[in-house]
Amino acid sequence: MDANRNSSIPGRQTIRRRGLRISGRTVLLGGLCAAVCVVVVSLGLFHHLGTNSSVEAGVSRLRLEDIRFNGTRAYEYLKRICAIGSRSSGSAGMEAQRKLLTEHFTSLGAQVRRQEFRVKHPVDGTEVALANLIVQWHPESKQRILLCTHYDTLPFPMRDRRNPRGLFVGANDGGSGVALLMELGNEMRGLDLGYGVDFVFLDGEEFVFVPDGRYFLGSEHFARRYAEDPPGYRYRWGVLLDMIGDADLQIFQERNSMFWKDTRPLVEAIWGTARRLGVREFIAKKKHEINDDHLMLHNLGGIPTCDIIDFDYPAWHTQGDTPERCSALSLAKVGWVIRQWLVTTRP
Ligand code: ZN
Repeated sequence: MDANRNSSIPGRQTIRRRGLRISGRTVLLGGLCAAVCVVVVSLGLFHHLGTNSSVEAGVSRLRLEDIRFNGTRAYEYLKRICAIGSRSSGSAGMEAQRKLLTEHFTSLGAQVRRQEFRVKHPVDGTEVALANLIVQWHPESKQRILLCTHYDTLPFPMRDRRNPRGLFVGANDGGSGVALLMELGNEMRGLDLGYGVDFVFLDGEEFVFVPDGRYFLGSEHFARRYAEDPPGYRYRWGVLLDMIGDADLQIFQERNSMFWKDTRPLVEAIWGTARRLGVREFIAKKKHEINDDHLMLHNLGGIPTCDIIDFDYPAWHTQGDTPERCSALSLAKVGWVIRQWLVTTRP
């Protein structure tokens, strides 16, 4: 995604520090409060409140075996995808990935098709063939849910100080959403669902070579086609998964998703699901405002779409975005929330 509006990677501290500003006048009062706190703690009154403190707000004690989503297998998928190497738009790696996904989902009983389109290469102007991959479950259903992620990777790790022209495998950024949906695919035929579901893998999210390049080519194409040549079905909700595999997982509510009146209930439903499951890494507070594929899906396609993204990721757009920075546990947590939200959502 493009973070040029106001998000910055070191921003993890911003929200927590905002509440901690202390003026000179309150030093005495602060000292008094500290003394009271010491007394309260010594009485053990904080025992149950402790897990609600802001320090621990984003950390659950869930283990893989507590979670009904196979994070271990999702992480294996992540490593397999990254082993392909770069999957930037138009590359051989992208085509290899498309083939892998097509075989994977076809063997699981989904209908898979390509939505092909062409763009001009942003550097040399040559024509490049791009394709969104659309994976349909229960294609007969006219009311559908869109679960999507971009599956292209940034051509080069442009934020890498040492090697901005090196290899970028995009484990979290480009790989994590794909891995999660591959694992969810294993369960889809067995789930009792109120909607048909489409997994859409969006190409050209970041076919860019400079920071202010043109992003979201795949979602723009997908949303325009949906609006201009409507299919015989409608998407009730769209959920975008982007950078959800960080081993240090913290998912705040994205500001655009909360700002749109038609999408806010979706955000609240998903974070409510996370709360009920005890997945505390879904933090029910707004933080970053992210330009991502959901802007196209919402603004051009009219699909209420939220962005589920952990934008506090120091390896973002560097060579350090490798599977080692991600974890099976994080994929399991997000996968469980999405799976549970999916089975409890009814028209
Ligand atoms: Zn990116």
